[in-house]
Amino acid sequence: MQVIKSFQFESAHRLMHLREDHKCRRLHGHSFKVDLVCEGTPDPRTGMVVDFAEIKNAFQPCHELLDHHYLNEVEGLEVPTSENLAKWIWDRVRPQLSCLSEVIVHETCTARVAYRGTE
Ligand SMILES: [Zn+2]
Repeated sequence: MQVIKSFQFESAHRLMHLREDHKCRRLHGHSFKVDLVCEGTPDPRTGMVVDFAEIKNAFQPCHELLDHHYLNEVEGLEVPTSENLAKWIWDRVRPQLSCLSEVIVHETCTARVAYRGTE
């Protein structure tokens, strides 16, 4: 069974490795949405795979580092693509949340990246 909690944050970034005329090279922002997917069997006693509050607590330090920040200046996000952002979140949340099975980063309403811990 999957338990999924969504988060939102606003961040600015620019992708400096792209060619001069690529629009994503210019400084711009996104209203990012992140889905943290946890997987497991509900505990017979609690009826839960994981408490939503536990997912929220595990993501909170990441949220503080990302929300209203310039991602290029965040340690480990010098190339702040959604792919790298998904892995960055995975690397920080997974040690706190062993049932985490997937991180989905929505850069726009129609563009997203999913990461399951392997590339
Ligand atoms: Zn962008």
